[in-house]
Amino acid sequence: MSSELADRLAHWLASLVRIPSVNPLHAGPRAGVPGERAIASALAGWLEGLGARVEVQEVVDGRPNVYAFVAGRTERLVVLDVHTDTVSVEHMTDDPFDGRVEDGCVWGRGALDTKASLAVILALLERWAAAGLRPEPSLLVVGSISEEGGGMLGAIAFRQWAEAHHLRPDQLIVSEPTRCHPIYGHKGGVGFEVVVAGEAAHSSMPHLGRSAIVAAARAVLALEEEHERLQTLPAFTEVGVGSINVGLISGGTAGNIVPDHCTFTVGRRVCPGEDPEEVGRALRALIEAAVRPCSATLNQINPGAPGFYQSPDSPVVRVLAEASGFAPTVAPYGTNALRYVGFAKQLVVFGPGCIDDAHKARECVAISELELCAAAFEAWLQPA
Ligand SMILES: [Zn+2]
Repeated sequence: MSSELADRLAHWLASLVRIPSVNPLHAGPRAGVPGERAIASALAGWLEGLGARVEVQEVVDGRPNVYAFVAGRTERLVVLDVHTDTVSVEHMTDDPFDGRVEDGCVWGRGALDTKASLAVILALLERWAAAGLRPEPSLLVVGSISEEGGGMLGAIAFRQWAEAHHLRPDQLIVSEPTRCHPIYGHKGGVGFEVVVAGEAAHSSMPHLGRSAIVAAARAVLALEEEHERLQTLPAFTEVGVGSINVGLISGGTAGNIVPDHCTFTVGRRVCPGEDPEEVGRALRALIEAAVRPCSATLNQINPGAPGFYQSPDSPVVRVLAEASGFAPTVAPYGTNALRYVGFAKQLVVFGPGCIDDAHKARECVAISELELCAAAFEAWLQPA
């Protein structure tokens, strides 16, 4: 690949990094103007300038998705979904937004996770526009908000928008740092906040009350037992079996009062083949039985998502694997792909850089990774 392309990849990525787009849930004194508005309007302008038909959709609180349609040589529709928000910059040890190019890398928050894929598609569209080339399929580039917290609002809004326009993508790439390995499956999940209600009493006469903390403790141990049981089950797919984590707990009023309330959160990873609603119902029954004679109210934290699983033999997975030279694999983390199950006919997670380096005190992506991703996108989109 030409070094001219490498220069353009670095240029586009630096330009993207220099526009702060910290997710409002991660905002702090160093975040600049939080949210995705500024990057969405820059992206819309750039993509329009490169010949795309652009629509900007306000999703929530002044935070817009960007949809850029690039006409292909055919009407077959493919989608590249890239989240435009980043995590916090408060713990960063260098300038989060300078976008400097150093040691063969572009540095700054979002360089890796996940503005890199936007830089790749911008550089390719620029190159094709200059050469009078068009991709084989028609391409929809989606810049979606709120992936790094807040329930994947951008992905949900995009899917609703696309379905309202009767768009049915043939193939959809969710951009995340996968080191250019096509990811063809990962777990989904369902989560609850559990509020256990007991009855308060003087601590010298605990028999007059019902301890919500003791009841919650029984529920937590029952959930741990259920987690252990899940680990003994055969996996339906390479993605593996489900798992349970109790992440937060708090409760009680004072040291000398039998506690009448205790709240905890429980997350259940759902593997492909499991129905999140059914899993949620079973979890609810298990918790309600464990807290008796106290009672439990379960508030669902996020809309449940089934696991995502795409055959490693599907054409989009194969073309990316052949171009990058990396075998398809599965991932332990969740992505926007959870919102696209049953929407795109073929679904894959793919992008430059390694997820292990994301969300850290320093962030960078190697320009060689951007070049590899560009080669894979060219193999996918077949410009001519
Ligand atoms: Zn990401």
